[in-house]
Amino acid sequence: MNQHTRFNLPICLTVEEDAFFHTDEIVRRYIPDIIGQKAVIISEEFLIGIYREKIEDISRDFGGAEIIAMGGASFDEAVSIAKKVCVEDIKIIIGIGGGRVLDTAKYAAHISKAVYICMPTSLSNDSLASPFSVLETYGKVRKTFACKIPTAIIVDTNMIINAPEGQTLSGIGDTIAKHTALFDWKLSASKSGSQVDDFAYALSRMSYDSVYHCDEKNMKSRVFIRILSRALVMGGLAMEIAGSSRPCSGSEHLFAHAIEEYYPEVKISHGLGVALGTIPACIFQGQEPDGIMRFFKAHGLDFDPASYGITAEMFADMWLKARTVRTGRITVLDGIKHDTVQLNEIYSRMQEGI
Ligand SMILES: [Zn+2]
Repeated sequence: MNQHTRFNLPICLTVEEDAFFHTDEIVRRYIPDIIGQKAVIISEEFLIGIYREKIEDISRDFGGAEIIAMGGASFDEAVSIAKKVCVEDIKIIIGIGGGRVLDTAKYAAHISKAVYICMPTSLSNDSLASPFSVLETYGKVRKTFACKIPTAIIVDTNMIINAPEGQTLSGIGDTIAKHTALFDWKLSASKSGSQVDDFAYALSRMSYDSVYHCDEKNMKSRVFIRILSRALVMGGLAMEIAGSSRPCSGSEHLFAHAIEEYYPEVKISHGLGVALGTIPACIFQGQEPDGIMRFFKAHGLDFDPASYGITAEMFADMWLKARTVRTGRITVLDGIKHDTVQLNEIYSRMQEGI
């Protein structure tokens, strides 16, 4: 296959103040081909309640697009939306919401081959532009499905400024995680004799650098929101180019997956789970975690596991489970022994902070 046909790129990435109030203008500017085509808006009941005015404005911009409050972020829900889209000759799916909505809308667009416009209401992780959707399959059991990336991504900075701070922190955590993910990706390539895609590597590294070295520390500032939006999208594109989640997901993600799967009672977002995983992952990789700990502290990201109800015993067990939670994914964990003494030390270090 030709190298250049392996991946797609979005046509538009707009990060603007009040962007949700002038989507018609953005669409005219970037994707005029779709003007006049039938569209549907996917969101959630509570978001439609909060953002009724904005969502109705977007609906008007798309010729009175139907607004659907989705039931759950499940495979069945995505399939039923895709069915409606195909049967009713709808050509555009607009997802307005957080990760759950965006993953469902993205997969529905993938199945129905509709144009997908992604409009996040928070910046909680890099799934907004990634070629994957995480959906519930049987009951609460979740699975990651490959899919196409959005045609357009429209970020309204005012919307993000008003989103709960924890969600932006989660997006920061998912971006900083690329530091250990990239290390693990190189390690895995050298062990398995495979290749790291240099361009995907560089994009993911740039995503991390742009946030880690950002002088603007105020998460509510437009400058920071613009940088974080681009960083998350760059992460998604790195995965699209690499054809895998490896540029953005290593041992720190295995730790977060172990929490999700074995400790569902621990209420921690994906991005904060991986942020917590990044500090020990750094240590396992022989990298100094002080810089990242200082960075988290400067942004008010709490990395004391106890704050999330994680005890030292649970912490050690989570790292044990992380080794088996995604079989076949080579990370630094494969080359080190499970050492509860070391894990207790790391736990105390994370409790003490910097
Ligand atoms: Zn992630």
